Amino acid sequence: MVILLFFRIFFCLPVFVLTNVQANKLWIRKQVTMINLILFGPPGSGKGTQASKLVEKYQLLHISTGDLFRYEIGNDTPLGLAAKAYMQKGELVPDSVTIGMLRNKVAANPEAHGFIFDGFPRTVAQAEALDELMAERGTAIDKLILLDVGDDEIVDRLLERGKTSGRTDDRNETTIRKRIAVYRAETSPVFDYYAEQEKSVKVAGVGSITAIFDRLCAEIDTMALG
Ligand code: ADP
Repeated sequence: MVILLFFRIFFCLPVFVLTNVQANKLWIRKQVTMINLILFGPPGSGKGTQASKLVEKYQLLHISTGDLFRYEIGNDTPLGLAAKAYMQKGELVPDSVTIGMLRNKVAANPEAHGFIFDGFPRTVAQAEALDELMAERGTAIDKLILLDVGDDEIVDRLLERGKTSGRTDDRNETTIRKRIAVYRAETSPVFDYYAEQEKSVKVAGVGSITAIFDRLCAEIDTMALG
């Protein structure tokens, strides 16, 4: 009898503890999904590629302003018409247009657990508008992750992408260089804006897609556990 009791405790307790560890892990994973992330970096840094992998793992809603604009252009909407000329020149679409579109997209998804913003914010004014929008939802941006890639690598990648993507802004080296210059002048200050809130981190954006993905996940998981 005593021996039986001893075996019960000896075998059941670890099973009980392990089950709870698993449950806690799941609970933590659930919390991990409640995040709002900005995937940041120059054009061609791999934001779109990584965002779709992150969406799968963390079940977040991916919002790419570039994709939204291309959708509007494809459907010949007034918004698409307003954006087209700027995009073809490699310039930013005016904040008033972009912020309005982003607001609508967020408002259309009240059930979302969290967001991955890709290509937004691209100016400090957009970042301020995003913070306001998140506050209205009773939430906030948790982290901005910069995919760090050098200019020459970017030009090579975009010219390569232009061969198959059907994107006219990827075929012309002048437009590509213009987009990089706009990024350095108008967009990179967004990194400092979130650095002041201690939310900005940098991750090397070179190497294999999987290696970069692992770096991003490490950042996200640290945040969730820290
Ligand atoms: P990439 O990051 O490769 O340049 P995107 O698809 O993110 O590509 O953006 C393509 C173009 O769409 C930009 O060059 C710009 O003209 C326009 N655009 C996208 N997002 C924004 C934004 N947040 N603010 C202003 N313009 C934007």
